[in-house]
Amino acid sequence: LTPGVRRGGLGALLALAACDAPVVPLDIPPYEFRLPASAPDGSAVLRTFHWGPGVTVPVLVAGEVPGRPDLRRALERAVVVWDRAAIFGEARLRITDAPSQAYAVLEWDDAEPILTAPVACVGPSTGSASTRGCLTPDGEGLEVWPLRDGTPSRVLFRVHVRMAPGMDELRLGRLVAHEMGHVLGILNHSTDPTDLMWPGSLSTGDPSPADRVTLRTLYRTPRTLDPGAGR
Ligand SMILES: [Zn+2]
Repeated sequence: LTPGVRRGGLGALLALAACDAPVVPLDIPPYEFRLPASAPDGSAVLRTFHWGPGVTVPVLVAGEVPGRPDLRRALERAVVVWDRAAIFGEARLRITDAPSQAYAVLEWDDAEPILTAPVACVGPSTGSASTRGCLTPDGEGLEVWPLRDGTPSRVLFRVHVRMAPGMDELRLGRLVAHEMGHVLGILNHSTDPTDLMWPGSLSTGDPSPADRVTLRTLYRTPRTLDPGAGR
């Protein structure tokens, strides 16, 4: 070994020892995960939201439309891929059939809505989908989004998917996995087309190493979402 190689090897060993586990690549920086929003005085701010560590996030599928690719199947796949990515006990997704239990609702944008019309709700969107939450007046939390039938709600995110030409099971699966990244708190987009959280046409349905690093970094921040507290 040359001295240069020897130094590199030692550096890698030290880096591994300093990390929780060697599974997440150490040399990939996270991308911006904060939500662009307005402060009460109108200035632009970036807000950080995520669930408490280890929280399981129930997602309700509402508004399936006959003849279209299956939202539930797409969500089932998204639950699996994010579960594999959340190796440090970050929040996990699961499917619920009970509107009163849901923290997020997934539906076609032209289906009969189960949530009230949005008021002052913000969030990342692309041509094919959007994930929105409604900021509290101080902008530092998210309001519970009421259900139209008056059932007590714990919903903090509404995910809309738009039917587009060429939307098949594969594309819907990738899109729903992307939107679930937003539900987990990555409320911005990657600038790398190979990442799941890229805002353009998706080349993958799985969180990339950069997506995983970003999720891990997000969950090291103090901000948390608590549907029980209404923020
Ligand atoms: Zn997005």
